[in-house]
Amino acid sequence: MKQSVLITGGSRGIGAAAVLAFASAGYNVAFTWHHHGSAAEQVLARAQKIAPDRLILALQADAADAGQVSTAVRRAEQELGGLQALVCNAGIAQQKLFTDTTDEDWRRIMSVDLDGAFYACRAALPGMIHRKYGRILLVSSMWGQTGGSCEVAYSAAKAGLIGLGKALAKEEGPSGITVNVVAPGVIDTDMMAGFSAEDRAVLAEDTPVGRLGTPEEIARTLVFLADEASGYITGQVIGQNGGLVI
Ligand code: NAD
Repeated sequence: MKQSVLITGGSRGIGAAAVLAFASAGYNVAFTWHHHGSAAEQVLARAQKIAPDRLILALQADAADAGQVSTAVRRAEQELGGLQALVCNAGIAQQKLFTDTTDEDWRRIMSVDLDGAFYACRAALPGMIHRKYGRILLVSSMWGQTGGSCEVAYSAAKAGLIGLGKALAKEEGPSGITVNVVAPGVIDTDMMAGFSAEDRAVLAEDTPVGRLGTPEEIARTLVFLADEASGYITGQVIGQNGGLVI
C-alpha cells in the first residue's frame, strides 16, 4: 500500500523534520503551514528532492481555524488518495507566569495546541474509519506529563492532548486506528530561540543524556509509530526527553 500522511505545522522544527523523514520512508506527504511561507517552500523543495517519485503537498492552514483545517484534510485526501496517517504537530508555546496570563493568551495556546488537534482528528477520522485503518500521532510535551512552571497554559493544552489521545485510542481501536502521543523534552528548534546560550547549557546539563534533543530524533519516532507494524502500540505516551522525565 502506498502510504500517505498529513503533518500539521510542517514549515520548520519537528514538523519539517517529520516531512523529510516520512518522504524518506516512502510516504506521500502533505503538510500544513501558517507562518513562515518561505520556510515551507524550502521544506517542500527538500522533500521533493528526497522523494521525487512521491507526492509532496504544502497547504496553508491555520491550525486554530476549523474550516481551514478541514479544507486542508480534504485536499490532502483527494490529492494523495486518502490518508493512512495524521501527525498533529502544530503548536505554539509561551513563557509567562500564570498570574500574568490573559484570556487571550490562554485561548490562543488552547486553540492552536489543543483545538487544532481536535479539528484535524475530526476531519481525518471518517476516511480512516471508512478504510478501517489509521495512525494518529499527537505531539504533546513533557510539560503535558509533569507541568511546567511559567508554562501553565501550554502544560494544560499539552496534557489535554494526552487525554485526547488516550480516549481516542479506546474509541477508535475497533476501527483499526491507533492513536499515540509523543511527548518531547527539550528539542533544539526555533521554539527554543528565546533561551540564552547559558540557559541551554543548563538545560543540557540537567538532562541525563547531557544534551538537547534533535527534531530528527522525534521525526524518527513518528515514522516508527506510523508504521503498519506498530499496530499493537496504541493509547501510549512516548516520552522522548533524554531522561528528564523518568
Ligand atoms: P517550531 O516553532 O519550530 O515549529 C512549530 C510549527 O508549528 C511551525 O511549523 C509553525 O509554523 C507551526 N504553527 C504554529 N502556529 C500554527 C498555526 N496557528 N497553524 C498552523 N501551524 C502553526 O516548534 P517545534 O519545536 O518544532 O514544535 C513542534 C511541536 O512540538 C509543537 O507542538 C511543540 O509544542 C512541540 N514540542 C516542542 C518542544 C521543543 O523543545 N522544541 C518540546 C516539546 C514539545
